[in-house]
Amino acid sequence: MKARERARTIKGRPSRFMDSKSNILVVDDNPDKLNLIKAALDLAGYNVTTATDGEEALAAIESYQPDLVVTDVMMPRMNGYELAQRIRANPVTKFIPVIMQTAAGRRSEDLRRANEVGALGYITDPTDLDLLLARTRTLLEFKAYLDVCEEAAFTDHLTGLANRRRFERQLEREVARMERYGHPFSLLMIDIDRFKDLNDSFGHDAGDDAIRRLSKVLREGTRGIDLAARIGGEEFAVLLVETSKEGGSEVAERLRAAIKALEIPTVGHITASFGVAECPTDAQTAADVLKAADVAMYEAKRNGRDRVVVMQQPPRSNSLAAGDVQGDGNLGLASRG
Ligand SMILES: [Mg+2]
Repeated sequence: MKARERARTIKGRPSRFMDSKSNILVVDDNPDKLNLIKAALDLAGYNVTTATDGEEALAAIESYQPDLVVTDVMMPRMNGYELAQRIRANPVTKFIPVIMQTAAGRRSEDLRRANEVGALGYITDPTDLDLLLARTRTLLEFKAYLDVCEEAAFTDHLTGLANRRRFERQLEREVARMERYGHPFSLLMIDIDRFKDLNDSFGHDAGDDAIRRLSKVLREGTRGIDLAARIGGEEFAVLLVETSKEGGSEVAERLRAAIKALEIPTVGHITASFGVAECPTDAQTAADVLKAADVAMYEAKRNGRDRVVVMQQPPRSNSLAAGDVQGDGNLGLASRG
């Protein structure tokens, strides 16, 4: 495994960059049927995990997202219809294809119900393994293509970092995780100092080169579980998972120094200004965390750039306060650069 691939492995979840085998979850309360299907998929070269009812399956799907779910219909606690419905109702798992298999009913009503809950396959003879494998191959092909499209849609093309869309989605998820588990996280907002001057003096190619090099610093200076994103032209954000403000400001200071130390051909050296805010101490919603870090970053600009400003108090709804600055009504209008 290459180091870069290893870095992409998130929280024990097998990354698709690390392992090209597709992951399939098989769900059945009948051990014989479960083992038969698992053995067939194992033999075909897939990574197979199992669950014995819908609830167990949902927990497995939440902890690692399989590429495909093959589920029985009749099961205790949560049946296959409800499982499919729950998978489809969650935006994160919505596009994981589901195949239903059952030996019990062949009524058209069952088939209709499977379609209504969004199943993409319905197999009435679970021992027809060739049929199962054929359907599995086709759905995994579509899933792989969807994954490629999604990866492209959420990646900044210049830098390979996450784009704004992915960043916003991840920020929402971190806020939800904080609400659920109480783990704080920190957000860094980063803006290259006097970037317009740089572009004017050295041209856009040199500007792009500086952006790419800075992005590399952000990627290499954060953990695999963190998210570094390019959210605007010369503006970046880093989400530091389960990190307090103290930890966040240490990371920011380290990144700031590393950016300053870059030697960029043509351009020479660049600097960047950093704002740091923590959820939930400084703000409790995605929009407010973003605003708090942004306010702190503007304050770093105002204080002379090339520095880290840590949010010191929560922003009030109609007043932007950062650092030790009290109620400067013009703060929000401070020019970037
Ligand atoms: Mg059953």
